[in-house]
Amino acid sequence: MPNEFDLQVLNPATEEVVATVPAATAADVDAAVGRAARAQSRWAALPPGDRARLLRRFAAAVDDHLEELARLEVREAGHTVGNARWEAGNVRDLLDYAAGGVERLTGRQIPVPGGLDITILEPLGVVGVIAPWNFPMPIAAWGTAPALAAGNAVILKPAETTPLTALRLAELALVAGLPEDLFQVLPGHGPVVGNALVEHPGVAKIVFTGSTAVGTQVLAKGSAHLKRVTLELGGKSPNIVFADADLDAAAAAAPMSFLDNSGQDCCARTRILVQRSVFDRFLGLLAPAVESVRVGDPADESTQMGPLISRAQLDKVRSYVAADAPGIRGKAPEGPGFWFPPTVLTEVGPHAPVAVEEVFGPVAVVLPFEDEADAIRLANGTVYGLSGSIWTRDVGRALRVSQAVRAGNLSVNSHSSVRYWTPFGGFKQSGIGRELGPDALTAFTETKNVFISTEGPAQ
Ligand code: NAD
Repeated sequence: MPNEFDLQVLNPATEEVVATVPAATAADVDAAVGRAARAQSRWAALPPGDRARLLRRFAAAVDDHLEELARLEVREAGHTVGNARWEAGNVRDLLDYAAGGVERLTGRQIPVPGGLDITILEPLGVVGVIAPWNFPMPIAAWGTAPALAAGNAVILKPAETTPLTALRLAELALVAGLPEDLFQVLPGHGPVVGNALVEHPGVAKIVFTGSTAVGTQVLAKGSAHLKRVTLELGGKSPNIVFADADLDAAAAAAPMSFLDNSGQDCCARTRILVQRSVFDRFLGLLAPAVESVRVGDPADESTQMGPLISRAQLDKVRSYVAADAPGIRGKAPEGPGFWFPPTVLTEVGPHAPVAVEEVFGPVAVVLPFEDEADAIRLANGTVYGLSGSIWTRDVGRALRVSQAVRAGNLSVNSHSSVRYWTPFGGFKQSGIGRELGPDALTAFTETKNVFISTEGPAQ
């Protein structure tokens, strides 16, 4: 029978109930950790080629169910169907990429006198992955795929609002032949299930993606057992447009750099910094681009932006934008659903809350700057350091500014941030550690150093 602690999954575009999911308890976490530890010992003992093959089968199962997973993501998270297909494809690709690392996870041989010195990369054991609701599938996979490939077991706690795709992925893992209990999904409340994972002595590492406020608690509580912790947290990323840039291209690309996923993207370029000499011209190009973004039913192939995830998120976003605040506004549907129109505020100070805090909605501010030094100062003027973009035709400037902006993922004349084969993570309060990229598996290992003496027995 459903109870008040169960998770009610709503379709953010209609507010209809999609599913009710029983919430796990702290006791469930304890039992899951025990099962995961046993499964992990057997998994780590398998030949690397067998583990790689099973992960490739898991990738193939995701591929076979790509449309089903994407449609589920549309219903539970309100993502546009195009984005949702990309997300399910990202899970498949990451599993394939991680599978390719299993046989390549090699240690070193280091020259030493009197013997042979080697390093061995050993799995950590049981890894807890705590995921947010904004990209439920990819972010779950960013931790899970490399952790499994490195020989660990994984317990995934999805966000309260988006447990369905995670649960389906766990079923597909079993269909693909992954051992029982190696990859478990425990839906539940953060302060209960998430907290129990963080505090459990049998969990060797936590990969947390979410808010900086909760991430800080995870780090503090995990330190009680010196738990390994990776944190992927918030952002307030700049989009720096210099006067020498291709302004048409910069203005055309700017809207979806903060409207994709309705702005619920840790890499959203929500601070548009524009050199003063081209400020008015840029705004003239930006306005029609923002106004023409198609907002509506996320299941419709032509939709570019869907709803926000929840009423709470809608209320949060509204609290940042006064109804009469000067700016550019797009259109959004009326009626049921958590809708907010694309919004660019054009007259805010650089220290206003909306200019420095993470809104996590389709809201950007545009701020003028004088010169390169001023642009860098503004770009670095928040507690975050996740992403950013630099638009210029001057190669030297692109490199200088890339070096000066304190952020983990920058792009020049583009807004791309995330590829599964390049590293991703934040500076400052945007996080600790890196995910993805060539070192993704190593982050789920301990390095053991072994010295073997070649000296014979004393004569
Ligand atoms: P959140 O911090 O509220 O929740 C994230 C996860 O933590 C959820 O699964 C939640 O249930 C769990 N949680 C909550 N309280 C907990 C506790 N006390 N102990 C352990 N776990 C707990 O964040 P959210 O609102 O779900 O996600 C949005 C945030 O995530 C934004 O700030 C966004 O920038 C960030 N984010 C960062 C990245 C990145 O890679 N840097 C990617 C996506 C989202």
